[in-house]
Amino acid sequence: MNVHDSERLSGLLEDAGYSPVEVGKDADILVFNTCAVRENADNKLYGNLGQLYERKLENPDFQIAVGGCLAQKDRSTIIEKAPWVDVVFGTHNIGSLPALLDRARHNHEAQVEILESLDTFPSDLPTKRDSTYAAWVSISVGCNNTCTFCIVPSLRGKEKDRRPGEILAEIKALVSEGVIEITLLGQNVNTYGVEFGDKGAFAKLLRACGEIEGLERVRFTSPHPAAFTDDVIAAMAETHNVMPQLHMPLQSGSDRILKEMKRSYRSEKYLGILDRVRKAIPDAAISTDIIVGFPSETEEDFQETLRVVREGRFAFSYTFQYSKRPGTPAAELTDQLPKQVVQERYERLLEVVNDIAWQENKLQIGKRVEVLIGNSEGRKDDRTNRLTGRARDSRLVHIDWPEDITPPRPGDLVWAEVIDAKPYFLIADAGSNPDVKRTRAGDAFDALDASSCAVPVATTEKRKGVIDLSVVLKSND
Ligand code: SF4
Repeated sequence: MNVHDSERLSGLLEDAGYSPVEVGKDADILVFNTCAVRENADNKLYGNLGQLYERKLENPDFQIAVGGCLAQKDRSTIIEKAPWVDVVFGTHNIGSLPALLDRARHNHEAQVEILESLDTFPSDLPTKRDSTYAAWVSISVGCNNTCTFCIVPSLRGKEKDRRPGEILAEIKALVSEGVIEITLLGQNVNTYGVEFGDKGAFAKLLRACGEIEGLERVRFTSPHPAAFTDDVIAAMAETHNVMPQLHMPLQSGSDRILKEMKRSYRSEKYLGILDRVRKAIPDAAISTDIIVGFPSETEEDFQETLRVVREGRFAFSYTFQYSKRPGTPAAELTDQLPKQVVQERYERLLEVVNDIAWQENKLQIGKRVEVLIGNSEGRKDDRTNRLTGRARDSRLVHIDWPEDITPPRPGDLVWAEVIDAKPYFLIADAGSNPDVKRTRAGDAFDALDASSCAVPVATTEKRKGVIDLSVVLKSND
């Protein structure tokens, strides 16, 4: 969500006449898009702002803006702590950033704009995407759950659902620009539609994506086990371009801890969903998020998490050590665990999840996989002569590529045989006569590559100015 917001901020600023600055060159404006989910976000933000003080003194025209969840949380405190900041804007005020920068410049006064809730879904904000072949598409913002470790509901507000027609129109427009993979984005995609009275809306949306010609791959994040229904599993299985992949946060395998977390499902329900997904989609790669060391977690609770992990056989797990997030109910609990206990459990968990991921990856050896060549990682590594991309099930694949054949472009599809497996990736061989599908996404990459060589950086007709958009921290659910 945070990364996608950054794309919107870039798009808005470019629309307002700014241009991105080359890495290493001074910018006229610097925007921090902050996240409060990770630990120490406050310290990192204020540390960064402190480092900019001298620069602001040297050049009073240099503008600093702070947005995102920390801005929503700290509000005018940011200006009190760092009076050289020009703009503070909340999670519901992204669209106001260019106007706030103008006003701050004109009035020589810091501007703070924080709305408590979203007025309308920010569908029409311009977006500057990094990738030519893949795009995030927001289907909802906010969350109606109250997980006790999570700061999101208090900073992003209640869930607001975007209408299906708008979503599908955006996807079609993206596909016409060359995008072949989209990820539907929401804090809790399974409750999509509840706001406008259609509980089956998410499954219908997946099926509608299947009707869009030229759209090769559809993914979504994140589903919530409590609201995961069988109509979604059926839609996943029966829609040709919905990928055989599911990332569903577990958080804990202990029912007691799930209750403490206010996660309203239990381990058996969670495992039941996995069983039904695997029955309907046998080649599905399932991944998860797990928190260890939640307040009051006992060794027995932790053993329950290990049990569910072993039964769940995740292709990949994002593991986190619990740490307090100010403003969340769990931060107030008195039975916080000692750091060394959390660390020790975390290391044991990591060993188990990595071992299972490796075993699961080894099962891929000998299979022929379709790989979408990636943007940043897609370029050939001259040392290993390998290309990199994602398989349909989202596994990372490094492909041995014949030296005498021109490599495909980011966005093209390649078929290769898996010859080796590591815990975090697969190695595949494209053979001496690689099977490649050149896509419109690859053509779009070529066009962009050519134009980016020709266009000089950093001036526009409307205004001379450059932006340096920093994502301080990424969100995770
Ligand atoms: S963890 Fe996810 S489902 Fe729970 S409150 Fe946060 S955003 Fe909502």
